[in-house]
Amino acid sequence: DSDSNHNESENMSSVIPGWFSEISPMWPGEAHSLKVEKILFQGKSEYQNVMVFQSSTYGKVLVLDGVIQLTERDECAYQEMITHLPLCSIPNPKKVLVIGGGDGGVLREVSRHSSVEQIDICEIDKMVVDVSKQFFPHVAVGYEDPRVKLHVGDGVAFLKAVPQGTYDAVIVDSSDPIGPAQELFEKPFFESVAKALGPGGVVCTQAESIWLHMHIIEDIVANCRQIFKGSVNYAWTTVPTYPSGVIGFMLCSTEGPPVDFKHPINPIDADESHCKLKGPLKFYNSEMHAAAFCLPSFAKKVIDSK
Ligand code: SAM
Repeated sequence: DSDSNHNESENMSSVIPGWFSEISPMWPGEAHSLKVEKILFQGKSEYQNVMVFQSSTYGKVLVLDGVIQLTERDECAYQEMITHLPLCSIPNPKKVLVIGGGDGGVLREVSRHSSVEQIDICEIDKMVVDVSKQFFPHVAVGYEDPRVKLHVGDGVAFLKAVPQGTYDAVIVDSSDPIGPAQELFEKPFFESVAKALGPGGVVCTQAESIWLHMHIIEDIVANCRQIFKGSVNYAWTTVPTYPSGVIGFMLCSTEGPPVDFKHPINPIDADESHCKLKGPLKFYNSEMHAAAFCLPSFAKKVIDSK
């Protein structure tokens, strides 16, 4: 529809002979490029343009509206951190909700936690699910876990219908605030997440880059401090194929049993039984967990002042 055309043209990302360059008003004046061996899929869903290409050095790449979402080589960093930062911070996660994350990578990581009994996922675009199952089997393996239930729809509407205190953890694995994910960065959505969590429940959201989006992060932190009466933290990690090479996470907890995100009490690396189907953890460990909360001064100043 015209909206996704707008996003596509606005992002102006194109596949020039041999290279994909990620051009977007969300990171003006810069563009990360990957050498393209072959375009494997190009489609247009009801919500966004979907593309998969074989890169020469990062494996297959998933692109939505001209923005790189994941590559086979470095998706482990993002999927493992966005999942284990919250789940390793609470003693006994049982019910987990994933918003977005249609590629299945977060599901793969959540399913490593043996205490989890129920994994709901609400992804707006079925095409992302189908494309991931076809081209990224090691990511979409998350859907094979019997605890997983897929809801295809808008996460905003889904959360509005969730009874109070249903989940122990919510993971918002969203694309950026241009396009269908826009409302997932706004206050009413965070309020609906807080309502859906029980006492001492945790939420972890994709929270952009401290190099590029301090203004967005500032607003998110201010909203979260008003809404989440437990703790509010910003963490970050390295993902080479994300703009500026880093991505951040908002980690918040509701009032109730205190949650100290900086000291994981539920270590995942101790339990290797989950590795049969999903392979070993490639990125996350307890030291990386603690280090993720160490921020450069320019970011600390803004985040601590909110
Ligand atoms: N997991 C990816 C990675 O490794 O970087 C990150 C992004 S994931 C592909 C983002 C997902 O959020 C997309 O599949 C997109 O369709 C979905 N999404 C965007 N807006 C949404 C909404 N309002 N409700 C539910 N899902 C949404």
